[in-house]
Amino acid sequence: MFKGIARLAREGAQFEQKRRVSCHALPIRRLVNRCDAPRMPFEWTVNPYRGCEFGCRYCYARYTHEFMEFHAQEDFETRIFAKEFTVEQAVAELLQLPRHHRIALGTATDPYQPAERRLGRTRRFLEAFARMRGRTLAITTKGNLARRDAGLFEKIAQNNVLIVNFSVSTMDLRLARALEPYAPRPDLRMAAVEALSRVGLDVGVFASPVLPGLTCGRRRLESVARAAAACGARRFGAQMVFLKPAAARVFLPWLAHEYPALAGAYRAQFARAAYVRGEAVERLSALVKELRVKYGLAGHGLAQSGPQQLALFQIEK
Ligand code: SF4
Repeated sequence: MFKGIARLAREGAQFEQKRRVSCHALPIRRLVNRCDAPRMPFEWTVNPYRGCEFGCRYCYARYTHEFMEFHAQEDFETRIFAKEFTVEQAVAELLQLPRHHRIALGTATDPYQPAERRLGRTRRFLEAFARMRGRTLAITTKGNLARRDAGLFEKIAQNNVLIVNFSVSTMDLRLARALEPYAPRPDLRMAAVEALSRVGLDVGVFASPVLPGLTCGRRRLESVARAAAACGARRFGAQMVFLKPAAARVFLPWLAHEYPALAGAYRAQFARAAYVRGEAVERLSALVKELRVKYGLAGHGLAQSGPQQLALFQIEK
């Protein structure tokens, strides 16, 4: 017998069934959720979908499907739940939030995954946000579908702080296909960066997650920073991969199969802790700073975050 969100997930109507993916309605009580993690530079999160078709091997959000008693691997990528809400409901929730609180869209699942093209939940939330004044919204995505909403972004940015961050872990197409099998190609993401930057939006590129032995190293990270600068991005950053148990259960067997030489080091690291610490992270941080200077890109600006200030951040969804 299923309870709570597991029951709701099974009761929602099914919208459609494509060859690989089925989409379902998910009734919700709230769209905007409080983020209590002190290390996160935002107070509220919005994720219009549960599950993500992009299917990144390292995706940390897989555990969210386990709450609904679905499988963190296949189900997370193939059973997509679209939250049920109206523009008026989203407006009412946003108006309840303190004006200086920051809102992050796309912290757990991608707001511009393919389902958005047909179901438009992200656009619906943005239509609600466009009615706000003096708020801060940061979006994180791999979806070049974000170009569709350029006009809405411009409208939001007229009266609010809006930051649109694209995750581009690598410019290497083959590696990107292996790591992020159903996400748009890196060059398509960069084309979206260019299109949104061209209309004056504040766009960032984040080469996250950094995967030692795969996407790590000066040459690879610099190729992302260089492309970001050439496409007009204002921000650049990169964060080391972290693997919590549900993500590790998917990523590590995949790595052992595809890149067996790396498997032992990853297994040892993530048996100890979900987060990498120490020298590797310090070296990455120094390299990112150097690349920012070289390409004229700004950083996250976390130290200045607070009421009425531009909050820049990225979290790898
Ligand atoms: S990492 Fe982001 S884009 Fe990739 S599957 Fe997870 S939510 Fe989707």
